[in-house]
Parts: sequence; structure tokens; C-alpha cells
Amino acid sequence: MPVPGLGPYDDANIFARILRGEIPCRKVYEDEHALAFHDINPQAPIHVLVIPKTPHVSFADFAATASAETVAGFFGAVATVARELGLEQPGYRILANMGHDAHQEVPHFHVHVFGGRKLGPMLPNPLP
Ligand code: 5GP
Repeated sequence: MPVPGLGPYDDANIFARILRGEIPCRKVYEDEHALAFHDINPQAPIHVLVIPKTPHVSFADFAATASAETVAGFFGAVATVARELGLEQPGYRILANMGHDAHQEVPHFHVHVFGGRKLGPMLPNPLP
């Protein structure tokens, strides 16, 4: 079910529980700013989620309230994950769903990293 992209932050969301180690994940990368793990329902041969360690509901919340150091650290981690997955040479796509119309499902900001095949157009055409 899609969630609103604006607060309040729900500490019981599934990614908060993964961050606390209460639920397992297939980790691919971690540093002080971010955790990256394989999506449970991959939409491409490589489909990794990168999440900040700070409690932000969505991209909008992250952009509006995270410190400049946190934002830079997080997006640096996204780039590191893609590089370490070997995706820079073939290319990759990053995506963040924000709110209802984008069908955001988990109310903890996350960036999807897709790769491992040609990814086609940015959106299905026509939209379903
Ligand atoms: P959203 O629609 O919010 O941008 O994407 C949420 C993503 O989280 C989906 O691609 C979904 O498959 C993934 N997801 C949901 N629950 C879990 C989980 O418990 N573990 C992992 N690894 N991924 C999850």
C-alpha cells in the first residue's frame, strides 16, 4: 500500500527494523551514513536499496531536514554502492519514490539502484 511521503516518522517501519537488526537483510554495503541491501522482490538482475541511517520518511523529508553532511554522505554511499557492484561501466538507474502517486511503500527514505541489464525507458509507455 502506498504511504504519504510526509511525516511523522514511524519508528516501526520495516527499514527502521532492518537498521536496528531486528529483521535480516542481504547487506551489500554499510558506512556511517547508509546501509545498502538487496531488495526482497527484485525488479532487475541487480536491485539494491540504499537507506540513510537517519529517520526520514521520504526524499522530500530528507532534503528538507537532513544536514548537508548527511545528504552528502548518503549520496556518496549510493555512488559507492553502484561502483562496488560493478555498474559504472554498463550503467545503472537510481530511483526514489516519494508519496502516494509514486507508490512509495516504505516510509523510510530509500534509493533503488537498478542494473545488470538494459533497463529500457524510464517509465512504461503507456503508463498502466
Ligand atoms: P518503494 O515502493 O517504497 O519505493 O519500495 C519499497 C521496496 O522495498 C520494494 O521494492 C520492496 O520490494 C522492498 N521491501 C519491502 N519490504 C522489504 C523487506 O523486508 N526487505 C527487503 N530487503 N526489501 C523490502
